[in-house]
Amino acid sequence: MPHVTLVALTGFRVREPEMLELGMSLPGLTGRADAVSQLPALGILTLAGATVSPWTVSCLHAGNDLKATLDKVCQEDPDLVGISALTASIEDAYQLCDRLWQLGIRTVLGGLHVSACPDEALSHADCIVIGRGETVWPRLLDDASRGQLQRRYTVSREATPEWPMPRFDLLAHTPQRFTLQTQTGCPLACGFCAASRLLSSFHEKPAACVRRELAEIQKLAPRPLIELADDNTFAGNRDPHELLEILEQSGARWFTECDWRIGERPDVLARLARAGCQQILIGIESLVFRYPGMGQKRAELDRMLDAVRAIQSAGVAVNGCFILGADGESDSSLDALTEFLLDSPFAEIQVTLQTPFPGTVLHHQLQREGRLLPDRGWSSYSLFDVTFVPDRMTVTELEAGFRRVLSQVFSASAHQRRTAIRRQITRTAHTCRRDRRLQTANTPADQICFSK
Ligand code: SF4
Repeated sequence: MPHVTLVALTGFRVREPEMLELGMSLPGLTGRADAVSQLPALGILTLAGATVSPWTVSCLHAGNDLKATLDKVCQEDPDLVGISALTASIEDAYQLCDRLWQLGIRTVLGGLHVSACPDEALSHADCIVIGRGETVWPRLLDDASRGQLQRRYTVSREATPEWPMPRFDLLAHTPQRFTLQTQTGCPLACGFCAASRLLSSFHEKPAACVRRELAEIQKLAPRPLIELADDNTFAGNRDPHELLEILEQSGARWFTECDWRIGERPDVLARLARAGCQQILIGIESLVFRYPGMGQKRAELDRMLDAVRAIQSAGVAVNGCFILGADGESDSSLDALTEFLLDSPFAEIQVTLQTPFPGTVLHHQLQREGRLLPDRGWSSYSLFDVTFVPDRMTVTELEAGFRRVLSQVFSASAHQRRTAIRRQITRTAHTCRRDRRLQTANTPADQICFSK
């Protein structure tokens, strides 16, 4: 039987040595990056779910050691290797394809970067997939088994997604966190954002599919910790209570990404903590620049902060995400941001550099203006390396300013302060859940069963 090995290149990468050293020394800075890089790669697990007989399939989560990855792939003796990579790891993916080609093993490349730069990817792989792969995967495998693999398969962004069950059972070990997607894309279109647009337009997964996936995960971990792999949960028009009910009934604890407007929805806030929501990532983005495409997310800072406080008062921690280096950034605005973050209400923060990922409005703009740095290859698109010329600072000034901000906002004392905020939120969340249990105990069973 033909065998396909699916490889996700998930390792965390930083180019600048000073940045790498700093990241290792600050409490809380690399924690999120490590957590993300250890998440099961939903893309390849979903492709595995769409793999049809006579093909057999295996999944490999690979780090930064290319030789080790190559050895593992070869041990599988595959007929075809499917590789998924982000921009920062795409150069490794290309090297892997080149080595496999020398060994006579056919390769398929897909993912965000490949969808943005298909011709570049085609010079390394036998075949590429543009868009969401699971829709064309069975046809691609059929073509491959007949020796008729095409050079490119294109899935329209507008195509209604198919929702094959991800093969969580193929994971080598039970992960600390699982991933589950309840939607694709985002109804907004922030100019720096690649994830929300490139693969698919906005679609919401049917509730029955979410429930089935949760049940599958719970075969491996009865009370799992789940990262919703959504770009903006609850931003669509569907009734949020159906999803919250499913999550609450499952007993899972979960994290997700939303925009700040969720803090102005009291009906959703009232249920979040008791539905198991632990933390929400919210992009405040920049204090000096408003990106095109932010739509209704564009608002005054005070209003966004009120929303953050409302979410945390409801027992859910907010991870405030900030981007440094947008147009208008200067040494003094970086100092102002530091001062703001040291006194901000966020339980967690994420601070990264503006990164012009290919396919985004931002990339096109900086390319047009001749501001992309030619000596910074794709591996520098790590969110922690400068890849463009800022408009009011030199590259060196932005690099030094970024390190200065990080060393202050992730210092031990700032970390302790946020830990205290998180403890308070945890106490609130316990109260919410206890109240819910009391309420449930007094409610007739037929009123709390979710209708299937
Ligand atoms: S709200 Fe978030 S996910 Fe949506 S476009 Fe903006 S950055 Fe991307």
